[in-house]
Amino acid sequence: MTATNPFSIALHGGAGTITKGSLTPELDRAYRTALQQALTIGYDLLRQGATALAAVEATVVALEDCPLFNAGKGSVFNKVGKHEMDAAMMCGKTLEAGAVTGVKNVRNPISLASRILHFSDHVFLSHQGAEEFARNQGLAFEPDDYFFTQQRYEQWQALRDSDVYMLDHTETKEKKFGTVGAVALDQAGNLAAATSTGGMTNKNFNRIGDSPVIGAGTYANNKTCAISCTGHGEFFIRHVVAYDISCLMEYKGLSLAQACDVVVQQKLKPIGGEGGLVAVSGAGEVAMPFNSEGMYRAAWVAGLEPVVAIYQE
Ligand code: ASP
Repeated sequence: MTATNPFSIALHGGAGTITKGSLTPELDRAYRTALQQALTIGYDLLRQGATALAAVEATVVALEDCPLFNAGKGSVFNKVGKHEMDAAMMCGKTLEAGAVTGVKNVRNPISLASRILHFSDHVFLSHQGAEEFARNQGLAFEPDDYFFTQQRYEQWQALRDSDVYMLDHTETKEKKFGTVGAVALDQAGNLAAATSTGGMTNKNFNRIGDSPVIGAGTYANNKTCAISCTGHGEFFIRHVVAYDISCLMEYKGLSLAQACDVVVQQKLKPIGGEGGLVAVSGAGEVAMPFNSEGMYRAAWVAGLEPVVAIYQE
């Protein structure tokens, strides 16, 4: 391995109705700072020769710990007023994966997904079984209060007596938040993807979104790309979004950018599948397409300047 090997990282903090007019200058700054900090954590690890898996986990942990985003601390409320979280991680070299759904009180669901990837014979654990595995692995738990944020609570209050559920950042009020994810190429040429979320506000209890579903919201394969999605999960599951992009590259020979455009703009957008994703190819190219008004996002390709963006800019 030499320092000249390419490496890159991209992350998102959710997509939705995020317009310039909807964020105060202070919030705009707070989001950009949080995105830049998480990006730097992952980039520094890659620069020092860490694996893509380690870089995406550390990046997502930083985003989970930040209450601005709908993952870990700051997760949205479901229909019965609880925080049920989903997460997944995948290794592009071995195609090993770890995923969890419906976990409560686990401080960093992405680390639980990582432990499943590394230390379990299974791929996908849910609810109490996942929590027991987390306890056996010595992962940190937090009381309900830790996950509470006033904004998410108000958001849920506005919807709780209805059957409406929604992306945490597609809001009628001034509240925009988001699922988080990261993808990376390391200096050894390996790809990895990680996604973590509280899901959608007022979702049915035990509802599972796309984020932990391998091939839908999260996928990595050294032959093609690593992908982490954000958006209206039901559409992303039905259209097997992340794997579809990988297949367009593998079987049809499309570039990363072309494959992303087909799926996000040509397939999802016309049917109302609001959202976007971050992607990195085996060559280190980055794509961050979305069909919503905005997506919290950031990327850093070795040798280039880091990019942090929110709106269609
Ligand atoms: N995709 C997530 C879900 O449907 C939500 C999001 O991206 O904000 O659970």
